[in-house]
Amino acid sequence: MYAVTQLLSVDEALSRILDGIAPLPAERVKLSDSLGRVLAEDLRAEINLPPFPNSALDGYAVRSDDVAAAAPQSPVQLRVTMDIPAGKPPDSPLTAGQAARIMTGAPLPIGADAVVPVEQTDARWQPDRPIELPSVVQIYRSARPGDGIRQVGDDLRAGQRVAAAGTVLRAQEIGVLASLGHVYVPVVRQPRVAILSTGDELIDIHEPLTPGKIHDSNGYMLAALAATYNAVPLRLPVARDTLDDVRRRFRQALEQRPDVILSSAGVSVGAFDVVRTVLAELGQIDFWRINLRPGKPLAFGHLQGVPFFGLPGNPVSAIVTFDVFVRPVLLRLGNRTDQASTITVITGEDIESDGRRSYLRVKLVSEDGQLKARLTGTQISSALISMVLADGLLIVPEGVTHVPAGTPLPVRLLRYMNI
Ligand code: AMP
Ligand code: MG
Repeated sequence: MYAVTQLLSVDEALSRILDGIAPLPAERVKLSDSLGRVLAEDLRAEINLPPFPNSALDGYAVRSDDVAAAAPQSPVQLRVTMDIPAGKPPDSPLTAGQAARIMTGAPLPIGADAVVPVEQTDARWQPDRPIELPSVVQIYRSARPGDGIRQVGDDLRAGQRVAAAGTVLRAQEIGVLASLGHVYVPVVRQPRVAILSTGDELIDIHEPLTPGKIHDSNGYMLAALAATYNAVPLRLPVARDTLDDVRRRFRQALEQRPDVILSSAGVSVGAFDVVRTVLAELGQIDFWRINLRPGKPLAFGHLQGVPFFGLPGNPVSAIVTFDVFVRPVLLRLGNRTDQASTITVITGEDIESDGRRSYLRVKLVSEDGQLKARLTGTQISSALISMVLADGLLIVPEGVTHVPAGTPLPVRLLRYMNI
């Protein structure tokens, strides 16, 4: 039997870890380098958008009074006095009886208060017709003041907030900032994450497998996870299971000026688990047995003031403990306020658990018009392929050993997730 009381709860461990974590300072980056970065302050528009009244369509700028009586059977004829392409301010005002040919986005001439679409005139584009400016135009439809016009500040008024501090910049925010003429954007500095794999059995991916050896998958996976959450991953060479080699790699990690250090493996109770020993020697260590499955052993501490995570070696345990403990740290360092992508789903089968908070790999399937969570099969924590096949992690709360089919439980989404 397990003894829950000897294990630290996930929530308690996380709140201890987050206690000392504060957002990183701001820096300025070029707008073209800002995709995925986090805004460091609220941004407000300094100008109106659009900055000048302009035409919303290709047509004829008119005075609405002039065309009040226009109808298909009784068109109104106006004299065409100007041609206004986009980008060219009109050189004279529009007076009674006049019309100006105007293109989408072109500035409206003074005196005009409506634009009639070209389709409502006799000047419709036709393949066999010249595109020269006609001297007169027949208007087939009346227009109210403002029709076909984009007024100053219609999209955005000067002083209005465009995006709040903490926003992760997407293409649409970048587009709006460009329209406001921002060359630089204030963003939160990206966390630097040093990543260290430990183990005598590990070789890098370009080396061929030999008896007893496996490729270092955690190093690449943790680097990709760090990058997913806006951090800059700094991979170090694999450390051997000796005190000297681990010490050397820890020092190398510190030389990278990291905001967080991640190591994987070497933190359980094996004879060669030297990470714990070196962390205790060079820094401060809290070693916790956490009420979590997979991923019970977690070493957390500080190395010269830098938060240090000794993650488990089994790849599934490493990815789950990253998601549960490291991801919130990176989000807080990056000053992000968004919440994890978790939805509630009904279990599609009876599930046994061992009383620890469990993150079980599941597929989401549609059955009888309902979304249900079904186990992917093996839950062994060395089989990383199960994380590839899973749509999400079903979270079984602590203290629960039997979950009957049909129980609603949270699922942490692994596909299409942003945070
Ligand atoms: P340990 O925590 O050192 O006992 O390792 C637990 C398991 O994880 C062992 O099967 C290791 O071979 C495996 N493992 C440790 N580090 C890695 C790594 N970087 N990539 C893939 N598997 C690993
Ligand atoms: Mg090992």
